[in-house]
Amino acid sequence: MSLPLEYEVTLPDGTKFQQPSGLFINNEFVKSKAGKTLDSINPGTGEVNGSVYAAEKEDVDIAVAAARAAFKPWKKMNNAERGQLLFKFADAVEAQLEKLSSIEAWDSGKTRDLNALGDVEESVAVFRYYAGWADKIHGQSIHPNPLKLAYTLHEPIGVCGQIIPWNYPFLMAAWKLAPALAAGNVVVLKTSEVTPLSLLHLAKIFKDVGFPPGVVNIITGYGATAGQALAEHMDVDKVAFTGSTATGKLIQKAAAANLKAVTLECGGKSPLIVRADADLDQAVKWGAEGIMFNNGQVCTSNSRIYVHEDVHDEFVKQLAAHVQEKYIQGDVFNSLALVGPQVSKQHFEKIMSYIDIGKKEGANVVLGGEQNTEGDLAKGFFVKPTIFTNVTPEMRIVKEEIFGPVVSIGKFSSDEEAIKLANDTEYGLGAAIFSTDITKAHNMAHDIEAGMVWINSSNDSDVHIPFGGVKSSGHGRELGEYGLINYTNTKAVHINLGKRY
Ligand code: NAD
Repeated sequence: MSLPLEYEVTLPDGTKFQQPSGLFINNEFVKSKAGKTLDSINPGTGEVNGSVYAAEKEDVDIAVAAARAAFKPWKKMNNAERGQLLFKFADAVEAQLEKLSSIEAWDSGKTRDLNALGDVEESVAVFRYYAGWADKIHGQSIHPNPLKLAYTLHEPIGVCGQIIPWNYPFLMAAWKLAPALAAGNVVVLKTSEVTPLSLLHLAKIFKDVGFPPGVVNIITGYGATAGQALAEHMDVDKVAFTGSTATGKLIQKAAAANLKAVTLECGGKSPLIVRADADLDQAVKWGAEGIMFNNGQVCTSNSRIYVHEDVHDEFVKQLAAHVQEKYIQGDVFNSLALVGPQVSKQHFEKIMSYIDIGKKEGANVVLGGEQNTEGDLAKGFFVKPTIFTNVTPEMRIVKEEIFGPVVSIGKFSSDEEAIKLANDTEYGLGAAIFSTDITKAHNMAHDIEAGMVWINSSNDSDVHIPFGGVKSSGHGRELGEYGLINYTNTKAVHINLGKRY
């Protein structure tokens, strides 16, 4: 029996809705040509939440053709009108904030009130921010000598393939869709096969507020089929990817087929340095949030903490007490819970295996270090917030991205050593420094190999400020004006004011 294109769902918090299951192409939900489907699993119970159609290469071809056909009129549309449409879209998302947050929590295992609600609110802010940019994308006028006037145009790139992960389905989609559309591009976005449900609701809102058919296409499907087809498609002009470094490498290779523009937001192993002069209470609170937030599934999470030897033991004591007291685990609809389940069984098992590796490597477990099997939590994919100390730079738990609520804490005795430890990684996404000496902290920020450094905070992303990494954490920037520029091509128009003799 083929999957219906929508079905009714009632969530544990009473939210009722029709769940679309089709590929959103040309403003319609359609079945995949081959009729293949994929199941979305509830991380809190291990049960199937629902199914959706899974796109394959021929579906990607159809979506890309729809986007291509929509490109010219969308590019030529009055910029202010395009901005107004994005504002209208943001308002419509905001009007459904409660419902969309519940759906996002149910689909991804994010705690509803702490994580999912914040993500949808921030997505609205991102759409508003870029809506405001739509009629303010200007080039330069360049007058190098009396006989030459030139100007630059910041033009849309064209058809953008966007591939997003499961840890922030709504927000990562917003970070990509909003600047791309504001700059006049058209999009085919592929959701993660692990969290395919929530973004189909976003798709419907694009249609409802009047986006022309083909401007936004949202497809569900697997990475190796639909994702690969999008990344190597000869009629896609840019691919923007957020996900693991391993997949980022495949995407960059696939994109070489037609030398399409590529931006990659990949993995991280971000350090947090606590100097001896730090406000320890603040370092503890930010450090805890920076690793436990979103169940530890944050690319910038401060998964390596380095503390000056003079304050190390006190920091560890305070951090363990704070995490134990504040980071309560529970069902995503339990408003007291700050840490939900890991997104999938496979991911849960990966984190548990890293915990095992850490123990075998000789690290000391100060907190957690096991599955949470209290009551109903035993059915889901819950890992207890875990703190390791006594770690060394060679340990795998220090080197590799675990992507869960697991932090390792090491010691240093000088700023130079702290910088050396911080940079001893293939990644370069975020880094945090806690110090009351702003000059020292500023100088250390210069020496750290990362796309973002937070002084006296952590994981402090902001729509106005560029986000992205260096080294194996990727290239290109999202958010702020830099994020917009990554969705434009600069065209130079030369006007000759002289005569050739
Ligand atoms: P993933 O790389 O497994 O998958 C990400 C996306 O890529 C999914 O949509 C998947 O279907 C697709 N994909 C997989 N194989 C593909 C292929 N061969 N061709 C094209 N697409 C393919 O990552 P994930 O497990 O979903 O997400 C977790 C990772 O994402 C972590 O490493 C995390 O650090 C990273 N991440 C980075 C940022 C950032 O901004 N730097 C933000 C969020 C997550």
